[in-house]
Amino acid sequence: MTFAHGRLAAAALALAALLLPAAADRADAQDLGDWPIHSMDRPQPPVVDPGPSQPPTPPPSDAVVLFDGGDLARWRAEDGSPAPWRVAEGAVEVAPHTGSLVTRDSFGDVQLHIEWRTPPRVEGEGQERGNSGVYLMGIYELQVLDSHENPTYPDGQAGAIFGQYPPLVNASRGPGEWQTYDVVFRAPRFDEQGAVLAPARMTVLHNGILVQHDVALTGPTAFQARPPYSAHPARLPLTLQDHEFPVRYRNIWVRELGDR
Ligand code: MG
Repeated sequence: MTFAHGRLAAAALALAALLLPAAADRADAQDLGDWPIHSMDRPQPPVVDPGPSQPPTPPPSDAVVLFDGGDLARWRAEDGSPAPWRVAEGAVEVAPHTGSLVTRDSFGDVQLHIEWRTPPRVEGEGQERGNSGVYLMGIYELQVLDSHENPTYPDGQAGAIFGQYPPLVNASRGPGEWQTYDVVFRAPRFDEQGAVLAPARMTVLHNGILVQHDVALTGPTAFQARPPYSAHPARLPLTLQDHEFPVRYRNIWVRELGDR
């Protein structure tokens, strides 16, 4: 009995020793840490099953609806010409090699809702499987990728602030299934000389699950680089990335947030 209790106490202590650093790790999970950009050694975020996809949720009454399954009137190509992507089945699909889709309006601080699905047919691996991206202000990428059983560098998987912050967990649904992002974005602030007064901040729910918790972006997102901030207007268009995969989007709306 005593022996069993001793074993139990030892086990509890061992468990506590294991749990305490784990808890600390979790608290630090949103730090950049010392990981090199795109490190494959960085721990893979734990997988969380978000449950099945749902029909699109209707936008709230004060939303600016950017795409409701109809036309692309609120969008354009990068060069200003009409939006080149295809609308089908209530969704807009990336037309590979046509460039990003850009909103005609500009936005600063926003709450954004957007739904997306990677191609049902699985092809490629890592970054070469259903890659696209949601660029706040056309500069700060929230990665879109088929991250269902598709390991890649954690700062480049679905829900990552590309090249900066892996998601807290991998809340991905499978290929061909609709997924949601709900984002709270605060634009960076610059003084009149262009110095950073406050970095951009992002909170993201992926399929309703918290994956980015008020992280401070280091600057623009980029491949194999973390460039510094460069002063830009307070409002800029939202863009969706053409990464040459036929990813689909639907039910896109924003709520503009006041300066608070
Ligand atoms: Mg991308």
